[in-house]
Amino acid sequence: MNAAIPVLVQAASPHVMNTYGRLPLALSHGQGCRVWDVNGKAYLDALGGIAVNTLGHNHAKLVPALQDQISKLIHTSNYYHIPLQEALAAKLVELSGMTNVFFCSTGLEANEAAIKLARKFGHDKGIDRPEIVVYEKAFHGRSIATLSATGNPKVQAGFGPLVEGFVRVPVNDIESLRSATAGNPNVVAVFLEAIQGEGGVNPMAPEYLQQVRQLCDERDWLLMIDEVQCGMGRTGKWFAHQWAGIKPDVMPLAKGLGSGVPIGAVVAGPKAAHIFAPGNHGSTFGGNPLAMRAGVETIRIMEEDGLLANAVTVGEHLKAALAHEFQGLPGLKEIRGRGLMLGVELSVPCGELVGRAADQGLLISVTADSVIRMVPSLIMTRAEADEVVGILAPLVKQLLKEKA
Ligand SMILES: *Cc1c(COP(=O)(O)O)cnc(C)c1O
Repeated sequence: MNAAIPVLVQAASPHVMNTYGRLPLALSHGQGCRVWDVNGKAYLDALGGIAVNTLGHNHAKLVPALQDQISKLIHTSNYYHIPLQEALAAKLVELSGMTNVFFCSTGLEANEAAIKLARKFGHDKGIDRPEIVVYEKAFHGRSIATLSATGNPKVQAGFGPLVEGFVRVPVNDIESLRSATAGNPNVVAVFLEAIQGEGGVNPMAPEYLQQVRQLCDERDWLLMIDEVQCGMGRTGKWFAHQWAGIKPDVMPLAKGLGSGVPIGAVVAGPKAAHIFAPGNHGSTFGGNPLAMRAGVETIRIMEEDGLLANAVTVGEHLKAALAHEFQGLPGLKEIRGRGLMLGVELSVPCGELVGRAADQGLLISVTADSVIRMVPSLIMTRAEADEVVGILAPLVKQLLKEKA
């Protein structure tokens, strides 16, 4: 592990396609919320693989379960019944109060399925050109349909023509939703993130979610809540919309559901559960035994170890520590989010912080140009949260001083 000669990480890979702005570091292994690079340097991981590594790294309960599964079956085919699909679906139904689940492998795939459900919902009731309400600053993925639903021009640039059939509105503004859809008989669904992730950690107000739920009921629209990033216990409830006491009709999941094993799911309530029939949708890898076992075990361990409660207490602790540290600091706009999904918005672009934090042994991300995002593993401790603040705060103050 401790190579005498440092391994130089190339700025650009000669063979991997150049689609990411990467830091010049490569990780070799991890333990809990800590990871080490190929040269043995340690980092505190406040990014969690972008809200994916629910149980941190090398979890003592998850690893043996996955090893057991790998030795039995990794993949079969949806030509056959896969009992672990039933097990995970039953659990997701119990936690969500919804009724049926389709499994896939990624977030965009889950959202793609949601978009298809909404369109077929429309066609089934005689709407030939169904339209879906989507949001400014939304992020739903990078397939052609999901990037069309996304509200970030940078994600869309160069990939037109976009998929049609989306109506865009601002967040937390019920009057805009009403006026943008007034007299439009083609609307079939409202599609939103309970807390926008890539868009800058922007929570939907609970009252707004309740108003949208009511409007969807009145108009016979599907309420589709993308919980790919904010779901799976991250905010302290299984799903972030549950803080508003509502239920969606369609709920795409992915990221944290398998603690790092690729997995996606679309959970549907009674209004959407029977729209698809055999032949309407499918996925080769979707629901394979390894991914399903990862989902089942992730949820089991979260329950056993009280990780929803941990997300609340450590999240509140982290938020309070950040607020304390940055109190009255000119250049700090807002600290937002819930549980272990937190954003610190500065008044200036702060992308440099990602590299500077890594130099100091902390992994974070910056999204929407000026929002520091923390979405660590749900096993993070208060002491680790304090450590995050201890590294981050001086870097933020220094950057704000430079840019003042
Ligand atoms: C990450 C993300 C997606 C896309 O997930 P992929 O697995 O990268 O396709 C979709 N929606 C939200 C809210 C996300 O955060």
